[in-house]
Amino acid sequence: MRLILLGPPGAGKGTQAQRLVAKHDIIQLSTGDMLRAAVAAGTPVGMQAKEIMASGSLVPDEIVIGIISDRLDQPDMKNGFILDGFPRTVPQAEALDELLKKKHIKLDAVVELRVNESALLQRVESRVAEMRARGEEVRIDDTPEVLTKRLAQYRSMTEPLIHYYSERRKLLTVDGMLTIEQVTREINRILAAIDAADARAAAKKAQAKRARVAKAVKKPAKAAKKASKGAKKAATKVAKPAKGKVARRPVKAAKKVTKKRAKR
Ligand code: ADP
Repeated sequence: MRLILLGPPGAGKGTQAQRLVAKHDIIQLSTGDMLRAAVAAGTPVGMQAKEIMASGSLVPDEIVIGIISDRLDQPDMKNGFILDGFPRTVPQAEALDELLKKKHIKLDAVVELRVNESALLQRVESRVAEMRARGEEVRIDDTPEVLTKRLAQYRSMTEPLIHYYSERRKLLTVDGMLTIEQVTREINRILAAIDAADARAAAKKAQAKRARVAKAVKKPAKAAKKASKGAKKAATKVAKPAKGKVARRPVKAAKKVTKKRAKR
């Protein structure tokens, strides 16, 4: 299963991605997590991304595209993946299409988690409170101000992807306002439907192929039958000429000769 999860910050992409990973034994690729790891490790990419991320802006396309491209080449991707937080711009989506084409990977679906914007700020606030309660480090971009900026970025840069994938008949929208459990169930229902449709398409293709092969086998046999029928017909013509036909000609010819002779 190869999926993209699309939705604004706080839509529940991370939560659902983790559940899908457990159920389908696939890998979650979160560019946000990968970038945070790069920042923590102090890599050149991390140094470049640090300030940008803290402000709520988007890291340049070529950086995230590079990260994803490298990651897709890893052997653990064989079983499938969920992209969470990528693509986030139309150029990223176009680059991903190219990458997948080059690597002969088929994208199964893009699942959009649709949520009311008014709920997002509250969701992120409770996420922050829960993280604090667990003693975890809180993301520096999880403040109301930065969240407002991230939402604005989502609207202008990422939301156009809804149209992009719907045009390519990949988009499936799920109501992200349902409970976590219900959203998971809804996503799994959609994925099962895709699986069933794929199986039906594969069966149809296999049947068409069998029919083609059968026709190809029948054709030469038919042609041979036709040829032998033709040969038989020809042979009959030679062996048994139509009654009178052969006789008539000489008679006619003979008559002509006698007529000519009579004239003389
Ligand atoms: P969110 O909760 O907003 O979905 P993420 O953890 O996915 O947060 O990303 C956090 C930050 O990492 C973003 O605000 C952005 O700066 C950067 N980032 C993550 N993915 C991308 C991407 N595909 N393109 C550009 N920047 C990204």
